[in-house]
Amino acid sequence: MSDEADCIFCKIAAGEIPSMKVLEDGQSIAFLDINPLAEGHVLLIPKNHFETLDEMSPDLVAAVTAHLPPLVAAVTRVAGAEGCNVLQNNGRASGQVVPHVHFHVIPRRAGDSLGYRWPAGSYAAGRAEQMHAALQQTLGELM
Ligand code: AMP
Ligand code: ZN
Repeated sequence: MSDEADCIFCKIAAGEIPSMKVLEDGQSIAFLDINPLAEGHVLLIPKNHFETLDEMSPDLVAAVTAHLPPLVAAVTRVAGAEGCNVLQNNGRASGQVVPHVHFHVIPRRAGDSLGYRWPAGSYAAGRAEQMHAALQQTLGELM
């Protein structure tokens, strides 16, 4: 578990440490990433502390992510980019370093140096059907 009192993004949301805010409302804040993958790289966060997305209510996720369309448009335009990635890491194994939910909006251009690893695989016989059934059952329990 993360310690909320030591959470850098909670401190940014509370105004206790500075950030370069581009957007704020009652539940969300977006600000420049301090170590951008490209100029204009922005982070969108809920103001309240949640370590991973599954800890948030669907309504709060909807309220926070409602900012993504204008953010994507603004970041892409201001950075002079051709597109952008929206990334959201859950858990250390996924690459999450700051344990407070955040969405990266990262401007991209064809031929930029960022790259993208996508080592696609395939299912052994019958395995996709097993995964399909397990996911449907688990979602039925969770929703
Ligand atoms: P992640 O690896 O998905 O947890 O990404 C964490 C991001 O937070 C990184 O891109 C960092 O550059 C960024 N970051 C960490 N501290 C700050 C800060 N004080 N202000 C802005 N961005 C930050
Ligand atoms: Zn936090």
